[in-house]
Amino acid sequence: MDSLWLSALAMTVIVAVRYLATSGLFAWLTHRVRPGRYAGLEQQMRREIAWSLASAAIYGVPAGVIAWGWQKHGWTRIYADPRDYPLWWLPVSFLLYLLLHDTWFYWTHRWMHRPKVFRAIHGIHHASRPPTAWAAMNFHPIEAAIVGLFIPALVFVVPIHVGMLGLVLLVMTVMGVTNHMGWEIFPRRIVHAPAGKWLITASHHHRHHEQYKCNYGLYFRHWDHLCKTDKGLSAP
Ligand SMILES: [Zn+2]
Ligand SMILES: [Zn+2]
Repeated sequence: MDSLWLSALAMTVIVAVRYLATSGLFAWLTHRVRPGRYAGLEQQMRREIAWSLASAAIYGVPAGVIAWGWQKHGWTRIYADPRDYPLWWLPVSFLLYLLLHDTWFYWTHRWMHRPKVFRAIHGIHHASRPPTAWAAMNFHPIEAAIVGLFIPALVFVVPIHVGMLGLVLLVMTVMGVTNHMGWEIFPRRIVHAPAGKWLITASHHHRHHEQYKCNYGLYFRHWDHLCKTDKGLSAP
């Protein structure tokens, strides 16, 4: 039982350190390439860090419990030997995880923009005006649970190699930070090319923070296109 709590604590620390390292790196980069971008936002950034660290526990405790159950009792469909499934499943499972997480995010995000839910929960995320690199996990605890518990639930249903799961979490972390950074880090030849019509980067999510009722997606724009909620790119 001790090892269960240790695992939950360790995972919370890992998520918190991962957040501080990634957001810290991109905040530092912002000071280098866009000096003054976060001027006057010190109080807001403190708030973003506090909420994000609370979210780290909400992400970390279930992840720790699952990691413990995986090790001790073979819970979940996470596998360690890449040959347990056909090799083509490695990239397919990676993409499938991103697509499913994006779908979950799009619809729950739209729900959170209903006026009552927005006031009670999602308003905290939008209190960042404009968001900074520290806003990646700036969520009300209920929103953190809605956003953060999806992948822990998915590992019980869809098989994934542990390395691919690590890659999914890396993409989630980096895009969560860079999408809120307040400037576009990806080159114009990606953002303004055909691929950019389908992929979400800071230029897309920044418009969500400017106009609220549009651009709800997480990684991909197809739900926004299909539901006519895509209002194009902003120039952060
Ligand atoms: Zn946001
Ligand atoms: Zn929103």
